[in-house]
Amino acid sequence: MKLYLKTLLFILLLIGAAFCVNIYFSSAAVSEAMGGQITDSAASAAADLTLGFQKAFLSGRELDGITALHAFAQKTGAVYAGMVTAEGTIIAHTNVALTGTRLADPLMLRGARSAAPVFRRTIYNGTEIVDAVIPVTRHKHSSAEDILFEGLGTAGEISGFLRAGLPLTSARKAEQDITFKLLILALFIASAAALLSALFARVILRQVSLLGEGIRKVREGDYDFSVPVISRDELGDVAESFNKLSRGLSETTVSKQYLDSVLESMPDPLLITDVAGNILKANRAAAEFSGYDFLPPGAQNLGELLQPQAEGAQPPFPLLAKSGHIKEMDLWLKARDGKKLPVMLSAAFIGGEGRRQIVMVLKDTSQHKESEARLAQYLKEVETVNSELDAFAHTVSHDLKEPLRGIEMFSGMLLSDYGAKLEPQAGDYLHRVLKASGRMRRLIDDLLSYARVARVRNPYERASTAILAAEAVAGISALVEEHKAVVRVSENLPEIFCDPVKMRQVFQNLVSNAIKYNDKPVPEIDISAEKFGDYYWKFSVKDNGIGIPAQYFEEIFKIFKRLHSRQEYGGGTGAGLAIVKKIVEEHNGRIWVESAEGKGSVFYALIPADLRAKP
Ligand code: ADP
Repeated sequence: MKLYLKTLLFILLLIGAAFCVNIYFSSAAVSEAMGGQITDSAASAAADLTLGFQKAFLSGRELDGITALHAFAQKTGAVYAGMVTAEGTIIAHTNVALTGTRLADPLMLRGARSAAPVFRRTIYNGTEIVDAVIPVTRHKHSSAEDILFEGLGTAGEISGFLRAGLPLTSARKAEQDITFKLLILALFIASAAALLSALFARVILRQVSLLGEGIRKVREGDYDFSVPVISRDELGDVAESFNKLSRGLSETTVSKQYLDSVLESMPDPLLITDVAGNILKANRAAAEFSGYDFLPPGAQNLGELLQPQAEGAQPPFPLLAKSGHIKEMDLWLKARDGKKLPVMLSAAFIGGEGRRQIVMVLKDTSQHKESEARLAQYLKEVETVNSELDAFAHTVSHDLKEPLRGIEMFSGMLLSDYGAKLEPQAGDYLHRVLKASGRMRRLIDDLLSYARVARVRNPYERASTAILAAEAVAGISALVEEHKAVVRVSENLPEIFCDPVKMRQVFQNLVSNAIKYNDKPVPEIDISAEKFGDYYWKFSVKDNGIGIPAQYFEEIFKIFKRLHSRQEYGGGTGAGLAIVKKIVEEHNGRIWVESAEGKGSVFYALIPADLRAKP
């Protein structure tokens, strides 16, 4: 029921109750007044008949009393009348059977005590009457005869009492009239009061109903709604506070509508489930992606639709319960048409204890999967091409060596067998042919070594780089001695997981370069290493040699790239650093050089301590 109606009903009930009480007491008062009036008029009728009554009281004769009583009854219309002495004895009564009996009822006693007319309403033979007790006093103006016969009594002294049943008929009508008028008046006042109270309630409750409207709007998410303040009282204060509250809410709260539109506009499927996985909400992307409408809320269980991609992996919900969240887990989602769609799930709990829910975001990884497969395919193709190239380089260089050997052999034979017969010019040409073939053999050998890096796969194992470096230096001891070089291998060189044969070659190539490209009387070389993050070791081979111009820092790692003429610095083909680079990269590492011309160079190689671990 509306507050307005409740208030109105309450006020009406109050007014009704007030009027009932009022009418009850008013009619009681009227009936009291009527009774009094009837009794009074009977008392005055009795006063007129005082002499007759006194005579009867004095004589005590019933006949005297009956005469007076009849006169009284005639005057007042009394239904019964009796004369009672102060002691309570009935000396005469219209009902003669009562003469001589004693009367000691409460009304009689009250009348005797108060010495004034008393009455009460009662029913006599089915009709309502006024039962009255009227004291009869001595009359001042008694006649001379009376005084002669009866003696002088004291005026005002009570001789006895008149007990009479007085009719109410005349009074009854007046009483009904008054009650009726009272009722009409009550009705009129009640309707006026109801009207006024209705108006009053409306005025007061208007502010309350406006507040109710405001609360409804805020509940619907319209935080900008403000309630008109129409009363300058406590209710007005409440409305002001409400407006402040809603303003605060609109500034600090994200409306449900806003949140819904964010969720709906998300390109990725998003689902909200209870802790058991029952889907409570899903955005449009989720419905479009899976084909389900996920309605009604809670009807579908996400756990039944998801399945791990990895063999033997734990399903998402038990995992979530254990770890509290899931980040990028590869799963299959069973779509409505029965297809298995590859997805990546991220999930986390939201809400407090008892209201915990799970937000799940799915990422369609079908494209990702396709490109992964394409990439793997490309990689395979590249590997095939690379190994074919390596095989080609190997075969070519191998095959080239054969005719070269022939050229070298026959040129040598020509020189040794016919050298003396040849013209000096021809001899010189032959020497040049021999030299060129020698160079070509070296080139082919280096090309073969380069191709071998990729072709030959030695087993990887944990190896001490200190030992590998020492072995590398020992392998070129002739060169070291020839140049009187000093090679220092730091004690802190680590153990790493690598191809030891190739790593030894790295050290050997770098150290031999450091000795070769050195113009100092004592070439000094330092091999050391330091930790680079948790994953890498940074090896360095430092020399005090001729240095490298900055523009060649990258160039020198290309195959057959040399910075000097063939004769300078002991010659070479320019394959050494290319081989080093290839080996380092095979170990998932990186190589570079820092150098200052004339001062020396430092070659750095960043190599994982254990390339089986992830960086
Ligand atoms: P090679 O030594 O056979 O010429 P490399 O590939 O080992 O070929 O080196 C390429 C070029 O880089 C060398 O010709 C040389 O000019 C330069 N170089 C290599 N190491 C050093 C070094 N430690 N100091 C100065 N120059 C160097």
